[in-house]
Amino acid sequence: MVIDVRKLKYSGKDECSFHFEYDADSSVITLPDAEYSGKVQVNGTLTLSGKSVFVYGEIKYAISTLCTRCLTGVVFQNVVEFDEEYSETEDGEDIYKFKKGLVDLSEMVDEKLMLSIPYAVYCKDDCKGLCSECGANLNQIQCEHTK
Ligand SMILES: [Zn+2]
Ligand SMILES: [Zn+2]
Repeated sequence: MVIDVRKLKYSGKDECSFHFEYDADSSVITLPDAEYSGKVQVNGTLTLSGKSVFVYGEIKYAISTLCTRCLTGVVFQNVVEFDEEYSETEDGEDIYKFKKGLVDLSEMVDEKLMLSIPYAVYCKDDCKGLCSECGANLNQIQCEHTK
């Protein structure tokens, strides 16, 4: 996910759009049996402004996992927006660094992605979960313990 800002400058432009797709590492997701379903998509626009580079856009992904309450398979889909500044010269808490005219979005995208993954995913808002006595899926049946 590297964008060559010098090339952009040489071509006389100060803006470009970008699109990346990549296979993210599923092993760092803490949800049960979690795996990215398909590739993570990154779409955005990069703008040059003085010595800074601004990027904004969105990260789209889907994770197949289990409902935290009833353990049914679910696919969690999410879109995360980003709007960040990169600089070669300036330091700052909210500023990402880049070198030699190459803006690498990987670190920023990874951070946003990880922060956006929830601790729990439910198959539906009112999932009834499993019976603590017999393990029956209470969305599907009513066991003797709940009557
Ligand atoms: Zn559920
Ligand atoms: Zn039961």
